[in-house]
This record gives sequence, C-alpha cells and structure tokens, in this order.
Amino acid sequence: MPVPTTPPSVADEVTLARYPFLPQASDWIRSMAVRHSIDLNELLEGSWMEQARQRARIRLIDSIQSKEGVQVAGGDIHTEEGRLVEAFSFYYARLVMCASEDERLIARWAQAEAARAEQLLTQDLDNLRTVANTYLSQVEITHTTPTAPLSGSVGAVGMSRETATEEWRVGLADFIEICPKITGHRWRLPNVDVDRGWVKLHNERQYASSAKVARLLRERIKAGIEAEALEKMGEVTTDLAVRLAEPVGMVRNLMANKASEAIALVGAEESDWPPCMQKVIADLSAGVNVNHFGRLFLASMSATLALPETSCVNFFRGAPDFSEATTSYQVQHVYQHEYTPAGCGKLKVNHNCPVLPGDNRTCDQPWMDHPLKYIRATQRWKRLTARSAAPEAEADPKSDA
Ligand code: SF4
Repeated sequence: MPVPTTPPSVADEVTLARYPFLPQASDWIRSMAVRHSIDLNELLEGSWMEQARQRARIRLIDSIQSKEGVQVAGGDIHTEEGRLVEAFSFYYARLVMCASEDERLIARWAQAEAARAEQLLTQDLDNLRTVANTYLSQVEITHTTPTAPLSGSVGAVGMSRETATEEWRVGLADFIEICPKITGHRWRLPNVDVDRGWVKLHNERQYASSAKVARLLRERIKAGIEAEALEKMGEVTTDLAVRLAEPVGMVRNLMANKASEAIALVGAEESDWPPCMQKVIADLSAGVNVNHFGRLFLASMSATLALPETSCVNFFRGAPDFSEATTSYQVQHVYQHEYTPAGCGKLKVNHNCPVLPGDNRTCDQPWMDHPLKYIRATQRWKRLTARSAAPEAEADPKSDA
C-alpha cells in the first residue's frame, strides 16, 4: 500500500496517547517506559499498571462486543497518568492479541481500534492532517467555492470547525487501493470527482469532507495495526503466552459466546421467522414492490440466519424490478458486510411491521424490540414445549415416539 515512508513527526504527547497505534508513538511509549520504570513484569502484573490492564480489557471486550469499535472515552490524557493508561492499555491489549496467535481475533481487534480512531479524527481536525499525512501518500486540503449552498449543515459530522470552502482531496492511487473495502455508492470510482490524479472528497450535507478522509484513514489504520500485531506474534515466547493465558482466555470465551449465539440462530426454522420477515417474502413473491428498507431487512436477516445466498436471491425473484445480476451483487454485499437487521421500531416507522396489537402474542410482549428476539423466544418456547411433552410420551405406551 502506498503509505509514506517518512511520517510527519509528532511531539505532542496528548496526540500520541490518543492515537497510540501511530508509528510515531513507538519511541514515545518506549521513553515513557524508561521514565516510569515500566518493564514487562510491571506491565503484566505490577500494581502501577493495574489501571492500564483494566482499560486494555475494556478495549478487548469492545472489540468483540461493540459494533462501533473500542469506546472513545478513556482516561484523562491531559494528565501524565491518563496518558500512561491510554498508551500502555493499547500496548497490553496488543500483547494479548499477539499471544492469542489467532489472526481472526487480531483482525477484529484492529478493526475496533481503527473504528475508534475514525470517530476521534472526525472531531479532531487539528490532528487530522498529521494522521492523514502518516497514512496517505497524497492528501491535501483545497479551498473551493461550493457549487451548492451547504444549507442544513447544522449537525453535519465534523463540520463544526471546517469552513464550507475547505475540501480534502486524496491521490487516486490511495483511493483506488482503499475504496473497495468501503461500502456505499459514493466510494465507487465512477461516482467520484477525479481531477488530474486527485479524488476530490466533496462536502455533503450529512458527510463532511474531513469525515470522508477519516473514513479512508480507518482502513489504512486497521491494516497498519493488524500488520504490526501479526509481525509481533512471532516474538511471543512460551513464557509470555502462559502469563497472558487468562486475558487471552477471556477474549476467546467472548468470541465463542458470540459464535454460539449465531449458531443458535442459524438453526432457526422457517416457522420461527417473525411476521415481518415472512410478510416481506410473501409480498415479494406476490410481485409487490417492497420498499428499500424491507429489502435490506430481508437480506440482513437471511445473512444472520446463514441462509444460502442463492436462497436469499430467490426471495427477490418475484419483485417487479428483479434483475439477477443486481440482486446477486446487492445480496452478496449485505452478506459480506454483516449488516445487523433493523429493530422493530425502525421496521414500524418504515411500514414493514405487519402486526397490530392483539395479532401476535410474541410481538405483543413489552420486551419485543427486535425480530431476532422473536426468533429466540420462539425457539425457546419450542424447546420448553418439547421438554414438557417428552415425559408424557414416555409414559404413554401407545405413543409412536
Ligand atoms: S413486532 Fe417486531 S418482530 Fe413482530 S412483526 Fe413487528 S417488527 Fe417483526
């Protein structure tokens, strides 16, 4: 990937603590270790580093459980102690990931750290330029006259300190390498404004130019964190692996729980599907033009339930605008990016919930706020019914069972 070989220097310790994955942070973390006499023993077991280990656990738990990535809020990095916690929690979390020797876990953690960085950079325009120049070989801010007024820009991401005429542009080589990893039509090459080897990242009403740079950076940051962890994986000694067995086990268990939840859902039969899903399928097969929200919901439910992609495409065959190629592409996209199916609230607002109060006992439950809960509740109810029926069947000699 075309990443600058000499990144800009960063002297500000607050910035280094906020972005401890930066290549410029390595020397600073080493100097902090010397200054505060932090060696491996202290990091793994010392009382001085207890807080850093706790924050590292949160970083690791978030990487498995949160879709938004590692939570932004950490310690107060405007104090020396806060900076120590942030820097060494990242360092400790990376050690744990390396000791896991699990490339899947490492990729997931790198993704979560990069998602956190994107959130921070979207607000941190002072450091955006430095981080951009660290990870992109060609990037700059231009001053342009907006072609359309930025009406309604209130609340637009990252617009607070950026003038309407400031826009970022990135080199075509950087963009081409990164954009396939990002979903959405605005990231497809035919849809961007290319001018003499530069891709202009225009301000949009809900998507500022700076937020687009942060999005591109997320991919490079993830690749950087992942590559470094994989490289350091080879340096983990048996002794270190044994000493980190407990946190590694914690992360593995979290992953296993996630997987078993998914496996339970995969076992869902058609009769377990919620009315909203069944209605979209029935409408499509009857040639009714289901709205975009309903279509995305069906595809994401099918992906979550691990239905074969071809079965999902087949759901859409009756749609009035069905095109095998377009539907296959869109379904594949949803499967690859593991979209979470929408909850009941959004389905109701978008006219995709067919039930009214009193129509369906499960949907009437006060806790019902997501179609996946409907499936879990139905499965649980079936299990309980089967269990209570079993002793009766055993007791009845005429039973076929
Ligand atoms: S209440 Fe929720 S689960 Fe039930 S049909 Fe409506 S959207 Fe689906």
